[in-house]
Amino acid sequence: MLPVVAVHGGAGTIPKEKEREMAVCAGMRDAARASYGVLKAGGSAVDAVVEAVRLLEDNPLFNAGRGSVLTVNGGVEMDAIVMDGRTLASGAVAAVKRVANPVKVARLVMDKTSHMCLAADSALQFAKEMGIPEVSEESLKTDYAVMRWQKNLAPDADPVVSQMGKMGTVGAVAVDVEGNIACATSTGGFINKMDGRVGDTALIGCGAYADNRVGAVSPTGYGEAIMKVTLARLIIFYMEQGKSAEEASDLGLAYMKERAQGLGGVVTVDSRGVWAARFTSLQMAWAAAQDDVIHYGLFHGEDFTQPAQQQS
Ligand code: ASP
Repeated sequence: MLPVVAVHGGAGTIPKEKEREMAVCAGMRDAARASYGVLKAGGSAVDAVVEAVRLLEDNPLFNAGRGSVLTVNGGVEMDAIVMDGRTLASGAVAAVKRVANPVKVARLVMDKTSHMCLAADSALQFAKEMGIPEVSEESLKTDYAVMRWQKNLAPDADPVVSQMGKMGTVGAVAVDVEGNIACATSTGGFINKMDGRVGDTALIGCGAYADNRVGAVSPTGYGEAIMKVTLARLIIFYMEQGKSAEEASDLGLAYMKERAQGLGGVVTVDSRGVWAARFTSLQMAWAAAQDDVIHYGLFHGEDFTQPAQQQS
């Protein structure tokens, strides 16, 4: 069954525009296909998840990298994380500004420092020292993100409802040909969040977890709820108790909904390469690649397929 990769494009709802839905699904398939290519060529699970997330950060349709939602003051502050299931090594950036690909900086934190997370200006400084160019904040903003920021400044606006009305955080889980497991997640966070807010995505066990002995999880959804139940680690725990990737994902998401009133979604994989894409939100864009087939969907119950060689 190996190798396998599964990606998500955030829990929520896509505005009722057929074109946007199709573009989001194509973005998912492209990321899964490229990442699967890395795995088929013998690349590591870490390489594969970073490549998938990098592509989605570059895609302005998603709330990560370019296309990130804005802070209440109109800035762009991003969180990202990578985890390597071989060693439990992990690297993250929190509230980082002015980098195109936070996931690359997260990987450098994992590979080149003895720490797990660098934040804000110091994360940018570290990125520059590692040769990652600084980009302008404007280059990360899309017209769509600016429009939503303005809308949510209204006194009666509810940014949490608004966020669940549009998806976008991105993530990936993968198992490579050697059976090594990894995951990565990246986000602009929550719409109109306070400056300096750090969400689940930067936190190990919340926005990501990977362990070669069990599997990997990349969540999306209301970060303040994900953190309360440490969602990624909770799902891994259910898998340790013998639940399948799908059952464990459903149990973790149901617990979060009941205990923390939070909706969300996950892509999950176990050590044998069995994958699941599950969500309690109305929609979650996802795609998975295995055995030269791309699976993808958006609404509950969907599982469309396409040969991996076919271009979107
Ligand atoms: N979990 C992200 C955050 O709270 C948002 C999302 O997944 O849409 O920052």
